[in-house]
Amino acid sequence: MEQIFLGFQDPIFLHLDVPCLCLYADLCKQPEAFLELPEQYGLHWNTAHHPELTGLDQDSAGPFLQGWLFFGLLAKISALFGVGFQPRDFVSSSPNGVTLVSGAGLRKYAWLWCAANSTLHADGTEQRMVRVRAYLDILHKVTNAWIGYDGVIVKRPLERIILSLVLLGEVLTFALPQLLRDNDIIFPGYYTWSLPVSLRRDLRQAGWCRGELPSLQERFAPPRLVYLSSVNRQRQDKDHSRCTDDACVANQLEEERYVVRHAPNCETKEADFVHAPVEAMCYILKASGIPMVRVVAGSSSGIPTIEITAFVLGHEQRMPAYVAISHVWSDGMGNPTHNALPACHLLRIQRHVDGLNTCDPAGSGPG
Ligand SMILES: [Zn+2]
Ligand SMILES: [Zn+2]
Repeated sequence: MEQIFLGFQDPIFLHLDVPCLCLYADLCKQPEAFLELPEQYGLHWNTAHHPELTGLDQDSAGPFLQGWLFFGLLAKISALFGVGFQPRDFVSSSPNGVTLVSGAGLRKYAWLWCAANSTLHADGTEQRMVRVRAYLDILHKVTNAWIGYDGVIVKRPLERIILSLVLLGEVLTFALPQLLRDNDIIFPGYYTWSLPVSLRRDLRQAGWCRGELPSLQERFAPPRLVYLSSVNRQRQDKDHSRCTDDACVANQLEEERYVVRHAPNCETKEADFVHAPVEAMCYILKASGIPMVRVVAGSSSGIPTIEITAFVLGHEQRMPAYVAISHVWSDGMGNPTHNALPACHLLRIQRHVDGLNTCDPAGSGPG
């Protein structure tokens, strides 16, 4: 259980500022009335699910969704376990005095729910979890409806609130079964969340290519996508002009345009290519060995040479420390016409390898 929450200041909104816009204190006075809560906003239960049918504009929708599906939901789940809910536990202030929604209180409530569940009658656990799932179903359905809203959401507070609901749903879906030791009722990955336009935009602004977004969404749940949107991924040396929504081709090479680069600090830019000992390497490979190379600097004015040794897996020979380097071609360290690189670049790579603190392969594997 510890790995769920420990190590984070705020397990939900670590990388996301979510404005607190609802009158949370009033909303939570009757936590059992979760399903009737839309009525406090003049909405009928049947219409509260759908963005269009609510008739709310974007300024009003944010407080409604936050009051109902963030504070109202947490109050309702707490009530289900007989735990008193203080909405203030989920509110904080930003350095410039703006009231924000905080997820830090979830750590405390998760333990309270867990403790309460252990004292409640075991027969009721399944029933409680079925109800929790029903509430999460509502959160999921309404939030996804707003993400897919046909009208363009232009209000930043509403964008943040919708994203906060996605994160709350994802964290609860992940945490509750583990806390309550009931993986059959809700399980991670149960809900599929649409990718909010605002998160797409944040990822793009952070430097992710549009061709990378489908793969990111496929591989990572929303909390990780929010984290990735906080990472500066701007790379001036990458050309994304040929990329599409389907694929990023910045690292795909065009041989006719490929340029073999010198090391960044190379002043001479001389064509002093050092060729790999291809025949010797092939000989080792054919004998089921692994060729291991080392760049050795030449004399003061000489060109470096490449030393090569063979290692054969399974032999009693002691495994030497080595470093495997992959994906070098996209950074100008490949050569489409020869197995050769400028001397400056080979020496630079060897310098970096020598600077690594390679561990003893006999003890814990190669460095
Ligand atoms: Zn790209
Ligand atoms: Zn050079």
